[in-house]
Amino acid sequence: MTIPAKRTSRRCLAGALLVAGLAASFGAAADSVALRHVRVIDGTGSASRENSTILIENERIAAVGPDAQVTLPEGARELDLSGRSVLPGLISNHSHLGMTDGTGAGAQNYNRGNIERQLRQFQRYGVTTVTSLGLNGPLFQRLRAEAHSGIGVGADLFGADRGIGVPEGAPPMNVAPEQLYRPATEEEARAAVREMAARKPDLIKIWVDDFNHTLSYKMKPEIYTAVIDESHAHGLRVAAHVYYLDDAKKLIAAGADILAHGVRDLPVDNELIEAIKATGAWYISTLDLDEAFYVFATQPEWTQTPFFRQALQPALAAQLDDPAWRRHTLADPKKLAIWEQGVKTNQANLKRLVEAGAKVGFGTDSGATPLRIPGFAEHRELQLAVDAGLTPLQAIALATGNAAALLGLDDRGVIAPGKRADLLVVAGDPSQTIADSQKIEAVWQQGREVSGPVVP
Ligand SMILES: [Zn+2]
Repeated sequence: MTIPAKRTSRRCLAGALLVAGLAASFGAAADSVALRHVRVIDGTGSASRENSTILIENERIAAVGPDAQVTLPEGARELDLSGRSVLPGLISNHSHLGMTDGTGAGAQNYNRGNIERQLRQFQRYGVTTVTSLGLNGPLFQRLRAEAHSGIGVGADLFGADRGIGVPEGAPPMNVAPEQLYRPATEEEARAAVREMAARKPDLIKIWVDDFNHTLSYKMKPEIYTAVIDESHAHGLRVAAHVYYLDDAKKLIAAGADILAHGVRDLPVDNELIEAIKATGAWYISTLDLDEAFYVFATQPEWTQTPFFRQALQPALAAQLDDPAWRRHTLADPKKLAIWEQGVKTNQANLKRLVEAGAKVGFGTDSGATPLRIPGFAEHRELQLAVDAGLTPLQAIALATGNAAALLGLDDRGVIAPGKRADLLVVAGDPSQTIADSQKIEAVWQQGREVSGPVVP
């Protein structure tokens, strides 16, 4: 039942839309599809609803409700999806595109073919909206426009233009000058924001810290204060890379709008929680990030599953299978301990912030390095959030309704009339067993079934 979403189908799609338009004017429903007898997990955190129907018309959800109560227009196509759950397409608030290819990273990877490959992979894994949170080159504007207009390949795309780092400091990435600013003065920082503002980014990104004491310089407070001030003057919100509790407090005090990683050095305290709540700032944990440093070398059972292996490019699969690479990765017990503790602290902090009612979004930093694997990372993040003590419904809400709200998007993220029909159809019941999010049977985007099972 999969309709392949190939670029060559554009003309056919245009034709289909034309036919649908004509049909609509005669009262028929050529483009109506009903997903029947499904379990709806609507993305708000509410309990799932059995025996439901989702009616899709063109790009949107036209109706959702109990099977018996949703009236189907004449001619609507019906799909019996008994036993399946339908949730909103997942939304990443923190990923990167065009950074990696195979086992390598570098400026040469920021090209259309590679980015489209990654956007397709996100979509195949049910991540239908992706935020490329900085390090974007000039090609970004065009790809984003294509994605928004519906002619793009793969997931819909949002992003933070280049982003602002530190001279001889963070981020320690091999990127082109046209992918990142490293201002040395407040005036240079403001100028960088003004340049980006002209290109209408969705967010402004800053990297403030020393990557766990591996870099010599942090961003000076006067620089990030200038960036935040100038961004706000242009109506833009600032997302900050953080690791340390102390930086998180200072950034929130300076007006940062989004903490783009979880606090990992210390437990969050009341001072930070109250400040986050008082300012309405968002928090993104990226639990998967630190785990990805080591978990493919320790190789728990799930790294052998087809669902994981399907996400690997051949060169990366070969690396993970190489005993020498695994030994090297785990060679430094101090590093391993820091990564493992980082995950644990991050998980406890996530639980605490959710319980406190802070605004929490969803992201993994997927795509920033080869080991942060697009599409797979988001499902792992759901599992890690549940392992942290969230209910599956809470975890799913972070990745759908909340993540849309973080981006200020009211057209997606929940299953309700009028919303985009970006949907993930899975076997089983992820509202009970979060791992069922991986049993992907189909992905719908803007009312079209764009992808089938990840594991054929
Ligand atoms: Zn990042």
